[in-house]
Amino acid sequence: MDRVRRLRRAARIILVGAPGVGKGTQTERLIKRYPQLSAISSGDLLRNNVRNRTPLGMWRAACLHGESGTNRHHVGIQAEAKMKIGQLVPDMMMLRLIFNELSTRGWIKPEGPVIPYTLNSIAATEAEIPSSNDPFAFTLPTFPSYSYSDSPTASFILDGFPRNVSQARQIDDFIPINWVVHINTPSEVVLDRISNRWVHAPSGRVYNTTFSPPKVPGTDDITGEPLTRRDDDDVEVWKTRLSNFEQASVPLLEHYHTKGVLWTVNGNTSDEISPKIFMEFERRFGI
Ligand code: AMP
Repeated sequence: MDRVRRLRRAARIILVGAPGVGKGTQTERLIKRYPQLSAISSGDLLRNNVRNRTPLGMWRAACLHGESGTNRHHVGIQAEAKMKIGQLVPDMMMLRLIFNELSTRGWIKPEGPVIPYTLNSIAATEAEIPSSNDPFAFTLPTFPSYSYSDSPTASFILDGFPRNVSQARQIDDFIPINWVVHINTPSEVVLDRISNRWVHAPSGRVYNTTFSPPKVPGTDDITGEPLTRRDDDDVEVWKTRLSNFEQASVPLLEHYHTKGVLWTVNGNTSDEISPKIFMEFERRFGI
């Protein structure tokens, strides 16, 4: 059995890579190998938030429309619409989600007076109230000063965040990322994988018509049930997301290069990439 590996210091990692390069897969593998690591996925946080109609939407609606209930879900619904067409949701919305998650886990703690900036609060300050009718045009709050934990148990992989340099600067202000893994897979390889992927939704079994086709085209090997496409495997949506990523990633990578924490890994498949990541991770954070 694989031995449990431990960390000698806090790892605060982000994975940067085009949609479909397998950031989720690498995250899962790292976490399995290093149980002190936690995964925080911006997409998952957002999906949960949208699904549960959490105070994020309520908070924004309260700012925009007073306490009237009719528009409470407005922003959540708009976030969902943006996600569906592959566009980024506003930085501030994302930052709040991450911030809330890290402070709930006790990894960042406020120092000095606490201004009620959490997602659970509708007590907005003047600075946060949007200046126009556009629900996404709201200004960034100034967070009070925060301290962060350096314990190995306060180690995490942020999957999907930050996606642009403005998000990177914002998170650096309260908890510095100390390793940035740039996963570099040629986009034609990713496109090929996405366009040929079929799933058996009830079991999660995944097929690829090129590398691992089902025995009978279009049906699951075990149950014989029909295979379907994953919602996010729409090629047009993927192209939009890819072009968003390409625009944002150059300055993002440059930002982390300047900070001296950038490391790039090349490969066509997750299996090719994982061992390279493990080796470098061990060197940086292993006991
Ligand atoms: P993902 O699961 O990471 O592919 O994210 C799914 C969708 O959530 C993206 O297409 C965006 O609409 C939104 N999203 C996730 N992370 C971010 C982020 N850091 N900034 C803005 N939008 C994000």
